[in-house]
Amino acid sequence: MFFVAVLLMGAASLFGLAADAITDDKSKVVQEIKFSPVYCFNTGLEKLIVRPDFIGCVIGEDHPLGESEITEGTERPTDINPQVLARFQSAQAAAKAEGIEMSIDSGYRTIQRQEYLFNRAIKEHNSVEEAIKWVLPGEISRHPWGLALDINLHHEKTGASWLEANGATFGLCRVYENEWWHFEPLVAPGGICPPLKPDASQVK
Ligand SMILES: [Zn+2]
Repeated sequence: MFFVAVLLMGAASLFGLAADAITDDKSKVVQEIKFSPVYCFNTGLEKLIVRPDFIGCVIGEDHPLGESEITEGTERPTDINPQVLARFQSAQAAAKAEGIEMSIDSGYRTIQRQEYLFNRAIKEHNSVEEAIKWVLPGEISRHPWGLALDINLHHEKTGASWLEANGATFGLCRVYENEWWHFEPLVAPGGICPPLKPDASQVK
């Protein structure tokens, strides 16, 4: 009986289409418009705005968050990646609306600065193997690529905890089990962050 009903419905819809094609005038075709969301930080409103892809982020009003994981480019930057910054600003604004403060305590570092921190960690830990779990060498770390953010490291931890829980919406993920403060743009905004790695010695 069920199949008969389905067949009849199928026939009716076929007939309906055919009738539309012939008469053409009185029947309204409601077409479903499909679009992908584009994530933008609106500088005027100072918050995340999601726009349809056929509009996209508005030049002069929005900073785009990017539509995928953000990885190393070909040229070494001199500052934090602008899409990573837009992701942070969007998250910061959302956290602030909930009364939670969030700050970048360390973002972009020069390779020289990263090397200095790495060598200092070797001295502190008395071994390269242990140091590399906490601070990566200049050529490997994503801080000199402007792609890593240390959040609230020298402040209250709540902001980083908030970002760990909510960062995927903005494309920011906590990366390591031993570093609650370290975040990277590992997914598209609205994505799902991968599981934590034990520490920074687990190179991708
Ligand atoms: Zn870090």
